[in-house]
Amino acid sequence: MSRNLAEIAKEKNIRYFLISYTDLMGTQRAKLVPAAAIGTMAKNGAGFAGFATWLDMTPADPDILAIPDPDSLIQLPWKPEVGWLAADPWMNGEPVAQAPRNMLKRVIAGAAERGFQLKSGVECEFFLISSDGEQVGDPADRQTKPCYDQSALMRRYEVISEICDGMLALGWNPYQNDHEDANGQFEMNWDYNDALVTADRHAFFKYMVKSIAEKHGLRATFMPKPFSSLTGNGCHVHVSLWKGDRNLFEDENGELGISALGYAFIGGIIHSADALTAILNSTVNSYKRINAPRTLSGATWSPNTVTYSGNNRTHMIRIPEAGRFELRLADGAANPYAMQAAILAAGLDGIQSNRDPGRRLDINMYTDGHLAGDVKKLPLNLLDALRALESSKLLTESLGAYVPAYLKLKHEEWNEFSRHLTQWERETTLDC
Ligand SMILES: [Mg+2]
Repeated sequence: MSRNLAEIAKEKNIRYFLISYTDLMGTQRAKLVPAAAIGTMAKNGAGFAGFATWLDMTPADPDILAIPDPDSLIQLPWKPEVGWLAADPWMNGEPVAQAPRNMLKRVIAGAAERGFQLKSGVECEFFLISSDGEQVGDPADRQTKPCYDQSALMRRYEVISEICDGMLALGWNPYQNDHEDANGQFEMNWDYNDALVTADRHAFFKYMVKSIAEKHGLRATFMPKPFSSLTGNGCHVHVSLWKGDRNLFEDENGELGISALGYAFIGGIIHSADALTAILNSTVNSYKRINAPRTLSGATWSPNTVTYSGNNRTHMIRIPEAGRFELRLADGAANPYAMQAAILAAGLDGIQSNRDPGRRLDINMYTDGHLAGDVKKLPLNLLDALRALESSKLLTESLGAYVPAYLKLKHEEWNEFSRHLTQWERETTLDC
């Protein structure tokens, strides 16, 4: 263990620790442990009944023990006497293979064996809405093109600055905050980092935004498409692969400053895109963000085809500058850990198999997509995506026990959704 939590508690005046793990549906589960008891917990883990959370277990399974990672410690900026710790679930003396953080660590270790380190940054869009969830929290936020709306941003100054101050205090190097393309929607950006660090911060960011919004009488949502006429919540991921201090995607002689290895990684993402969608677009609602019709602002800003481009936001992958690309596929519901693992696994396969990403398209995909010829479309719904994941030998092998467990839970979710009779069906079918 690299850091002694009992000593850290004394140094930093931490009274309680939240020992927290993220389950397969992305829900964070925690126990609140007094600092006096952290010594034993740090060693043995905090006990949970696995079946009571989304880990694909049964009530007969023994307790899981969530062992905190001391390097992940984050003092809650809005309640510094509490320290949040990302934890790794264990059972019967082994890491629980399907638990998302364990799975990401495994994929990262496999990459490290080949000398690769994934670094990534995430752009977690969210809405601030009324606490009943029915409408945008700010009734004055009504512009048709509300992106970067200065007044709407500043009417939420108290919330946004409190979150940003928190990130500053935590050393995440936040550098900008803005009002996004939908009424009530915001985005806050901080520095990219090692994929596990980014995943932990991504998980914590969601918790922090929700908690601080609540403090201000609002509700924050990362739901992919909470309002049908407005732009949805994306979670764009900026990706680069490193060896020590060297960014392996950077090549000044490469097309758009991207190396051959970078294009092979992109080729891997393109090759596995439909299966990746099951993980990066993990809810029934996700498919109302991708493949969506135009929103009130004029564009959805989300992809509908498996294509890549230069600095052009109408494709699944954008190469904004040398040395990195932006994957615009994932949404606010994506599991922070599974998302990074799936991207890395698909990209490594691209390198291993030297996959060709195909032709770069520089057209406006929203208006001129028909000119692109026979390009691959993204899955139209969760079921199609789950079936694509099921038949992806690559992701099934590289993500291990996570995939069958995830597929089982998600098929159950799809079945439950399918049993719902909607108003739309009644309106369109009643007079058949
Ligand atoms: Mg954005």
